[in-house]
Amino acid sequence: SASQSVTVIGLGPMGQAMAAAYLDRGYRVTLWNRTPSRADALVERGATLAATAEEALRANELVVLSLTGYDAMYAILEPAKAAVAGRTLVNLSSDTPEKARAGAGWVTELGGTHLTGGVLCPPPLIGTADASTFYSGPREAYDEHRAALEVITGRTDYRGEDPGLAALMYQLNMAIFWPAITAYWHTVALAAAHGIKATEIAPYASENFAGMGHFIDFYATRIDAGNHAGDVDRTSMGLASMEHVVHTTADAGVDTAFPEAVHDIFRRLAEAGHGADSYSRAVELMRS
Ligand code: NDP
Repeated sequence: SASQSVTVIGLGPMGQAMAAAYLDRGYRVTLWNRTPSRADALVERGATLAATAEEALRANELVVLSLTGYDAMYAILEPAKAAVAGRTLVNLSSDTPEKARAGAGWVTELGGTHLTGGVLCPPPLIGTADASTFYSGPREAYDEHRAALEVITGRTDYRGEDPGLAALMYQLNMAIFWPAITAYWHTVALAAAHGIKATEIAPYASENFAGMGHFIDFYATRIDAGNHAGDVDRTSMGLASMEHVVHTTADAGVDTAFPEAVHDIFRRLAEAGHGADSYSRAVELMRS
């Protein structure tokens, strides 16, 4: 049936995994990518490589975009824009909420339907039941294509009609992910300076991250209530502790840029007179 076919445009690691997941489920898959050779393995498995982006659009009503950002969508679809009308574009390219809103507007003006998506898993987990994706845009389009969307990730999280919402939720997750993984790289570099391998640190790092759920829940309630009391942690304690991290890093000859950026937040908070408050007051400092 027509619903069992899909076009995938953009064959980075994510787009390739998505196309493979559709082939696994028996979908007829049409592909297009700026660098055509990235389609080779998928074509061998039965996918069709379109000669042009326009041909790829015309092949199916449902079109999945997996690109570096929205600028790539314009680069690819501008010459093919006559074929956007009547199609549903599921844009899983990451970008700002503003770019997602403008992109949705552009597609809608051309007579197409735009669903914004933000995928929360790496390529190896595409096609699995537990992985999840944020969506926003026309509810009708989300409902109509739900089964096809659930091929990409088994769980979908529809946030609302505003095309910026899925992008925003994705960015809120990335704002945690990139600094957190950078903190891990820093720890590994610091450990390595002392001859300790990443695999030796891994269980401790995992336990540390797993414990974050406690802090997130504990502080969420207090932050929403405007409570930054220093009954559990004090900024002055954190400032000293973070100073110890910076010095341990410097003593090991490891780059201090990352811990110094965090230390600077403690310092500014203390200098603003909040040494006796919880470090959660940093939220207010950042907002002002
Ligand atoms: P890549 O950046 O590797 O994919 C890039 C794709 O975009 C390629 O198909 C590339 O074409 C195309 N592209 C980029 N710029 C242009 C352009 N100017 N014109 C035409 N095509 C262009 O990303 P991933 O596949 O890793 O990820 C895709 C999206 O998913 C990204 O937005 C990413 O943030 C998001 N994401 C990625 C995750 C991951 O772990 N990889 C996890 C969750 C989300 P070409 O092959 O020719 O270079």
